[in-house]
Amino acid sequence: MEENKNNKQHFAGFAIVCIILLLVFNAVVMPNISTKPIKETNYSFFLKQIEENNVRQVQIESDKIKFEVNADGEKKTYSTVRIDDPGLVERLHKNKDIDFTGKIVEQSLLQQIVIGWILPFVFIILMFSLVTKILGKRMGGLGNAMSFGKSNAKIYVKAQTGKTFEDVAGQDEAKEALEEIVDFLHNPRKYAEIGANLPKGALLVGPPGTGKTLLAKAVAGEANVPFFSISGSEFVEMFVGMGAAKVRDLFSQANQKAPCIVFIDEIDTIGKKRDGQLGGNDEREQTLNQLLTEMDGFDGKKGVVILAATNRPESLDPALLRPGRFDRRIPAELPDLAGREAILKVHAKNIKLDEDIDFKSIARATAGASGAELANIVNEAALRAVRNDRTFVTQTDLDESVEVVIAGYQRKNAVISQKEKEIIAYHEIGHALVAAKQKDSAPVHKITIIPRTSGALGYTMQVDEEEKFLMSKEEAMSRIAVLTGGRSAEELVFTTCTSGASNDIEKATKLARAMVTRYGMSNSFDMMALETITNQYLGGDASLACSAETASKIDDEVNNIIKTAHTEASRILTENIEKLHELAKYLLEKETITGEEFMNILNNEPQAIAA
Ligand code: ADP
Ligand code: MG
Ligand code: ZN
Repeated sequence: MEENKNNKQHFAGFAIVCIILLLVFNAVVMPNISTKPIKETNYSFFLKQIEENNVRQVQIESDKIKFEVNADGEKKTYSTVRIDDPGLVERLHKNKDIDFTGKIVEQSLLQQIVIGWILPFVFIILMFSLVTKILGKRMGGLGNAMSFGKSNAKIYVKAQTGKTFEDVAGQDEAKEALEEIVDFLHNPRKYAEIGANLPKGALLVGPPGTGKTLLAKAVAGEANVPFFSISGSEFVEMFVGMGAAKVRDLFSQANQKAPCIVFIDEIDTIGKKRDGQLGGNDEREQTLNQLLTEMDGFDGKKGVVILAATNRPESLDPALLRPGRFDRRIPAELPDLAGREAILKVHAKNIKLDEDIDFKSIARATAGASGAELANIVNEAALRAVRNDRTFVTQTDLDESVEVVIAGYQRKNAVISQKEKEIIAYHEIGHALVAAKQKDSAPVHKITIIPRTSGALGYTMQVDEEEKFLMSKEEAMSRIAVLTGGRSAEELVFTTCTSGASNDIEKATKLARAMVTRYGMSNSFDMMALETITNQYLGGDASLACSAETASKIDDEVNNIIKTAHTEASRILTENIEKLHELAKYLLEKETITGEEFMNILNNEPQAIAA
């Protein structure tokens, strides 16, 4: 749309310039081109012709002389440069045959206007447009600034996004809420009869990759009404007031097209809290103020619905969230087990699959993965199938691509010494054995010591049978024990420790700290919140909310928890030292073993395997 309009403007400008050039050409150049051919000669030729009495007519102009020569009954017109020749007039006058006169070349009024006014004007405009074009290309911002507050919202009309609610799996609550809005836009009378007001705005919140943008596109596909889509960052301009002008433009467009939907993606860019700090961001605040005003200004019954998406709802200005603005909050959470399975199936629809693919097992192995990650897993599996010259995707492709997404690609040609491989094998079996011997741990799914591009030298995958929503203190403790199991095995067998446990240490500390500061699972503190989460959907950074003394007590408590778990892990491994040796040897040989193989060896008598 916008593109088209631009092109039209360009064309109009071009046409005007052409017409002006044509006028100039007509007015200035044309009169000087007379129809008779005039020959340039030198002054001596002119004098000679006068002496020979061949000249009939002379016209003296300011800088040249035109004369007509009649020789041998043939008339010819010549012109020559006018030289300072005081005697000329006298000589011409002496000759009775010569008819002579002077001529002042005068610019017509039109010529004067064209040369004095229009030409410079055209020139300046041309220069200006050239400069803005070059600058605009170089630093985008100024180019945008020159478009003087036009919103560049894209308008989609029905189904142009190609997405419908069927493409969104899992997010059932979100879909239901949005379906209501779509329904309202389809038949507003149903709602008006009862006297219900639909929310003016709905805010989609959730972690990255959970399908917020996708949901909005699906609404566009379903809605049958114009759908304006714009990203929050597009309001941010170089000059103060420009963003506000864009908001105004967007809403006036939307009002004309009502009923319609306006979607503002990543609204936190403009919707941040106005904190009133000195030197705050004027432009952003003005844009936000304009948005607030516009949202109040339009009639809710007219049918303009505003959707917005963000993954930082806590940073939004409270004024945006009050009733009458974005009063409805639609959460797009990370999918649960059933949701993950459904998302995998949606994305597998366009892919050729082997007959019996177990999506449930993939879903189980990907607890905590977002929709975007699951889509990526399916695509990785398809790529792997192509790499292996197959025409369909198998279960192994999917299993492997889960690991690729979790841990990166296999580093097939990484050279690891036998000694180090042995340490890694014991480390991984240490994790697995501690997990298997505790009753609150998730079962072991897979153990591998093939290094990955993420830097992992091996890992132990545990997969819960069912989706877990709560974590008991015992489960937390046993999880920390499993994490310390790798290091425990190294200590037990090699009487040393390696840097390979750094990732385990990080995870164990994070969990132990959360137990103390947020879950109230420590001995010395009661149900006391010692930390607050600042960024719920983006990594969940926590900030301490206690005195320095308490902070040091927390550290002690965290250390105690990890120590207890570490001792427990060492105890388990010492009790099962034979199994540890046996399993490590087996893993060293096979490099990758499944949970079943692991459990078989663990439950068999050692002789049975040897036989
Ligand atoms: P965000 O929430 O960060 O805006 P997107 O909507 O951009 O996430 O999702 C990115 C991609 O992830 C989508 O294009 C889609 O392929 C996939 N995806 C995310 N959630 C879902 C879902 N619930 N169902 C199907 N695909 C999904
Ligand atoms: Mg998005
Ligand atoms: Zn480890």
